Amino acid sequence: MARYIEPVCKLCRRENEKLFLKGERCFTQKCAFERRSYGPGQHGQASQGRGKRMSDYSRQLRAKQKARSVYGVLEKQFRRYFGMAIRTRGITGLIMLQILEARMDNVIYRMGLAPNRAQARQMVSHGHFLVNGRRTDVPSMVLKAGDTIQVREESKKNGLFKDLAETAEKTNCALWLERDLKTLSGRVLRMPDRGEIDGNLNEQLVVEYYSR
Ligand code: SF4
Repeated sequence: MARYIEPVCKLCRRENEKLFLKGERCFTQKCAFERRSYGPGQHGQASQGRGKRMSDYSRQLRAKQKARSVYGVLEKQFRRYFGMAIRTRGITGLIMLQILEARMDNVIYRMGLAPNRAQARQMVSHGHFLVNGRRTDVPSMVLKAGDTIQVREESKKNGLFKDLAETAEKTNCALWLERDLKTLSGRVLRMPDRGEIDGNLNEQLVVEYYSR
């Protein structure tokens, strides 16, 4: 399973905004963007503040790269989601975002069972969850309304899940999901509306990028 292995803080610096990819650390002074709010690499600092006008292509490219970074998806799979969205009736950009939101790793993160998507992804790939009663280790699995998620009984003894209910208590569960912290389980109630998805993403530019 291919995944992005470079330091994720670089992605925030490249997009020149905080993408909150690390959970709690993002809200502290340790945040790399707070300390170095300029682009990564040798010329990152030099290119800062030149006020260069971006071409349409670069705006589309950056919008696409930002969405990819937020959900931790590689190019091939991201393009595949766009293909799925374009074949589905409705607003392509919104459908693509709904597919990304319905990924299993994202659902676990949105339920507040993991501090960030990367950790949710790892928890799934280590086989700690059941989907509709069946064990799964595929973080990219796209869930649908009515699907249930549960931490496996055997995994509840694992250190990772021991204090999870207590930690998760302090987090919010997305409105389109339902969770039960006593049983460490949850359900997808429906697909999210646009207002319930990260408002800082520009799906229209992503659609334009792939429709060139
Ligand atoms: Fe981005 Fe979080 Fe790293 Fe800050 S700590 S640069 S917000 S991933």
